[in-house]
Amino acid sequence: MLNPDRFIADRVRGIEASGIRKVFELARQLKDPINLSIGQPDFDVPEPIKQAAANAIARGLNSYTVTQGIAELHQRIGQSMARELPNWTLTAQGGDSQVLITSGVSGGLLLAFMACLNPGDEVILADPYFVMYKHLVTLVGARPVYVDTYPDFRLTPARVEPLVTPRTRMLLFNSPSNPTGVVSSEADCKAMADLAKYHNLLLLSDEIYDEFCHEKTPRPHTGLVACPTPAAYSDQMLLMRGFSKTYAMTGWRLGYVVGPRALIEQMTKLQQYSFVCAPSMVQVAGVLAMDVDMSEHVAAYRRKRDMVVEKLSGTFDLVTPDGAFYAFPKVPQKLGLTASQFVEKAIARGVVIIPGHVFSERDTHFRISYATSDEKLARGLDILVELASV
Ligand code: PLP
Repeated sequence: MLNPDRFIADRVRGIEASGIRKVFELARQLKDPINLSIGQPDFDVPEPIKQAAANAIARGLNSYTVTQGIAELHQRIGQSMARELPNWTLTAQGGDSQVLITSGVSGGLLLAFMACLNPGDEVILADPYFVMYKHLVTLVGARPVYVDTYPDFRLTPARVEPLVTPRTRMLLFNSPSNPTGVVSSEADCKAMADLAKYHNLLLLSDEIYDEFCHEKTPRPHTGLVACPTPAAYSDQMLLMRGFSKTYAMTGWRLGYVVGPRALIEQMTKLQQYSFVCAPSMVQVAGVLAMDVDMSEHVAAYRRKRDMVVEKLSGTFDLVTPDGAFYAFPKVPQKLGLTASQFVEKAIARGVVIIPGHVFSERDTHFRISYATSDEKLARGLDILVELASV
């Protein structure tokens, strides 16, 4: 009989299965849970986008595409970049910034880490963090170095700079943030772009939640009212955006990365030998998706965010989440509970939330996803307040 243990590589042994999955297991035993744990929109893919993908399949667009992604999607992303980030010039316009269409932002992250990090390199990132960062960085042999951003979850030079060493290679940035929902200010975005330049670090900005930004601000140079991004201040970085959250296409696997040509070429080479290309029919649908107005959904999430803040603020320490669809309240100290213990109590009352340790080296807060119906959200929040008010 084969001994499977002999064939498990060292690089995966250290990786724990996602803590989120463990919560899902607990939640599976509930009859009618109030699920505030889901990291994706609660609306479906808009009909025209579905039709575009179905038509693409019917028209026979089912083969491999070129590795870098179809020309039409490159063009559409180019238009959007020209409007929002005129400081970037793509290679198609004679500049040095190039686009790679990826299988989700996750695909882009893996390629970026593989292409840009050597074993032993250090990657600075905010704690709390999107859980994938920690494991992908480790997978390529690099070391995550956490910036403690409690209690306000701001990534600032004063917090980052003391952690820079000769081994630091990359600075990971995520705004709007998963799990806190915090949106970095225009000033903090500029500061991170400047810091990366000063210390010669590669800044990687994961902006998958950029559409769900409830406090857009005018940019100093262009006056454009948009979600703050370090990409407004530098084109010497990797910028990642996606379709999963904006259009609820999480299962369709589409994202893109823009960055200096020399780096994108290396990532493209790796994509050729791994993902090959993003799904063909999804790329076609992605072109159309970028013209679909999602403002109604964004406004609905803003209202849900307001409900979360209104109901929780008196009971929990909560940094106002200005983006994504998450909030990250602190378990009140008077309860004497870790976040995991609090989450167990919540699940026993039918409310599924995620304990902070899944996203952090601490276990003091918990993540709420408010991507659910108003009715369920209201009931869930009332139960959480009740649990914290004993
Ligand atoms: N980045 C962040 C911060 C996320 O929260 C997620 C998904 O939850 C991803 C990337 C992965 O997105 P995609 O579906 O595009 O791979």
